[in-house]
Amino acid sequence: MRANKSFINKELESNFKNRKIIVKWFDNLQEVKSYFLSQIPTEATIGIGNSQTLKLMKLVEAFLDRGNTVYDKTLGSTLEEIKALKRKALLTDYYISSANAISEDGRIVNIDHSGNRVAAITYGPEKVFLVISKNKITATYDEALNRARNIAAPLNAKRAKMSPPCVEAGKCVDCISPERVCNIISTIEGQYIEGRLTVLIVDEEVGF
Ligand code: SF4
Repeated sequence: MRANKSFINKELESNFKNRKIIVKWFDNLQEVKSYFLSQIPTEATIGIGNSQTLKLMKLVEAFLDRGNTVYDKTLGSTLEEIKALKRKALLTDYYISSANAISEDGRIVNIDHSGNRVAAITYGPEKVFLVISKNKITATYDEALNRARNIAAPLNAKRAKMSPPCVEAGKCVDCISPERVCNIISTIEGQYIEGRLTVLIVDEEVGF
């Protein structure tokens, strides 16, 4: 956690604090990975939200190598396995995910296809960590929603090899498609339990 001072946004930090959300600042993903490996016990159960950022960190591999029980839907090879992994991740000691956007007033926006990720972030796991690269910080809440629908959703759909109209259009066209990837749009406004949710902001531009 040696984030350079110019990167740290004190106003954003203060706005999150008022909403009972902890903020930590990191220079790069490697530091975030080291933080997790030092903070989370080897006997803990860990749920993982599908995220390009976490994949880049090879975090799941590191947890599995040292003996943690990890529920990551991308480890499943059949629909039944994937469904079971999603359900088990809902009651873990720790849940780690990313988010699609955060606004400077301290709101967190996520889009979700089936809802497992926003469900776990919202309630269930004892502690939740969201790894967020600096390109996902927006000045306003409206811009955060805009980012989630017009940037994150098309890219997530493409990654999942799905074809809602935004993949071709490069922006949301408010579809009602069977391939719709944003069936749930969630905004976290704050926390009931102080210390449950930590946002880890990274001074890198990764993920979507
Ligand atoms: S509503 Fe449809 S077009 Fe808009 S982001 Fe969602 S899936 Fe894409």
